[in-house]
Amino acid sequence: MLKSWSSEFDEFLRDESRRIGKADSISFPTTEADVIDAVLQARDLNQAITIQGARTGITAGAVPQGGHVLNLSRMNGIGEVRTDSDGEFRLTVSPGALLTEIREVAAKNGLFLPPDPTETSASIGGMVACNASGASSFFYGPTRSWVTALRVVLSDGSVISIRRGESFTRGREFNIYNENGREIVGTLPIYTLPPVKTAAGYYVADDMDLIDLFIGMEGTLGVVTQIELKLIPVPKAIASLTAFLPSEEAALRFVRAVRGEDVGGLDYQGMRPIAIEFFNSDSLNLLRDAKSKYGAFSNIPPLKPHFHTAVAIEYHGESDDECEESALAAVELVMALGASDDDTWYATTEREREPLKAFRHAVPEAVNLLIDERKRACPELTKLGTDMSVPALQLERTMSMYRADLQESLLQSVVFGHIGDNHVHVNILPTDMDQYQRGKSLYMSWANEIVAMGGSVSAEHGIGKLKAPMLKIMFGEDGVSQMRVLKSLFDPTALFSPGNLF
Ligand SMILES: Cc1cc2nc3c(=O)[nH]c(=O)nc-3n(C[C@H](O)[C@H](O)[C@H](O)COP(=O)(O)OP(=O)(O)OC[C@H]3O[C@@H](n4cnc5c(N)ncnc54)[C@H](O)[C@@H]3O)c2cc1C
Repeated sequence: MLKSWSSEFDEFLRDESRRIGKADSISFPTTEADVIDAVLQARDLNQAITIQGARTGITAGAVPQGGHVLNLSRMNGIGEVRTDSDGEFRLTVSPGALLTEIREVAAKNGLFLPPDPTETSASIGGMVACNASGASSFFYGPTRSWVTALRVVLSDGSVISIRRGESFTRGREFNIYNENGREIVGTLPIYTLPPVKTAAGYYVADDMDLIDLFIGMEGTLGVVTQIELKLIPVPKAIASLTAFLPSEEAALRFVRAVRGEDVGGLDYQGMRPIAIEFFNSDSLNLLRDAKSKYGAFSNIPPLKPHFHTAVAIEYHGESDDECEESALAAVELVMALGASDDDTWYATTEREREPLKAFRHAVPEAVNLLIDERKRACPELTKLGTDMSVPALQLERTMSMYRADLQESLLQSVVFGHIGDNHVHVNILPTDMDQYQRGKSLYMSWANEIVAMGGSVSAEHGIGKLKAPMLKIMFGEDGVSQMRVLKSLFDPTALFSPGNLF
């Protein structure tokens, strides 16, 4: 079952972080029994196990550092949608099923799964392991909110089957039984997670549902082999509005107003958007440039020269009229902030929404193309992408910090992302390794500032291998040691995912 490494498997040495690892063997299980066999064989051979879903992760969590690669892409079954006795729609899936495939099955039943990491070729096992989220997490929450049961294979080959609402910790104390009846008893780390969107470190809280410990564990506690998901009906009406504001300050006021916050002089009477996304002026300039160079960006509507900063919002409503009323209320805000009603794009049908969606996804794509170009001259170059969130009250301070530091450093960058959740990505675009190192120092200094403001060093991408030093900034040596102790209760020989988190 375990295949010795040969060059035909080399693509499995990397993920979207573009880091390249090494490995001794690989397996492609198709059933939970296969997973257990592979885990036990690797353990007997003393080979650590790196678990892989679709390898779209960007923190190198699925990149092996030697040992065995357990690739779950062929364990990809999707069950039938059912309505449970509580009236909820549920779907049981295998970990390798892709988000696109799950969405298709749900859509055939008039349903949808809200978590939306921009990369829809992610596997559901990877999404659970990273507690993936995206634009619509502003309203619908991250993957965690949609997982109702899990099966997890541990390093001794035993299985934990856990259902939401059935196993809770007492304070931080817990006990849980595997299917062989062995009890695992322990204490959760004592740190308190910041009240912001976060995917950094183990999720812990007093009296928490134990299922949440396995969501966001980044492959360090076990192999997720089955996931039960909650689905909801497709919204009756969907509408997108992209507003171009004359300054970043105006854009931030717009964001606060549509979030329903009290912003002096601005009154927003529309419904709460399900997503609020931000694109700074450098992002728009990068897109203008990409549009002039690459045909792939031709479907993005023209970006007028005076468009400075963009905020894209999406509504899910009961009717087109309800969405339109809210969009009109948002357009009034845009005008009150000094732009014209022509400085907005509004779309309701799927066809109309497509170019707006393309616009939202184009910035990271343009970044990747630029970095690929620069890599020709400097192969070791990568982009530096931040993924940090802050409490709402710190949003303006954080944005000014980024702006001032980037201006001073003269490094090229774009800032975009999920501003509804006070979570933007700063992408630094170095031209050489000297600039890369300077960008890295900036990133570390921001991480310290953001932790001091009560934020998270990773809001959605997770820690993986690349951000392990940041986990210490956020939780201190003590917090990280407590996480290690927790891991050892489930994985005493540190078989799973060496290098992830720690
Ligand atoms: C262009 C682009 C945009 C992205 N945008 C977002 C975004 O908006 N939001 C977001 O959250 N992420 C985003 N991502 C990151 C990525 O898509 C998500 O982290 C996704 O959840 C990873 O899923 P995967 O199947 O590719 O996992 P992999 O990359 O294969 O693995 C990720 C981690 O999960 C572990 N893992 C995978 N499967 C299992 C399993 N069954 N059991 C236990 N552990 C497992 C791996 O060991 C690894 O640590 C983006 C990536 C790209 C390339």
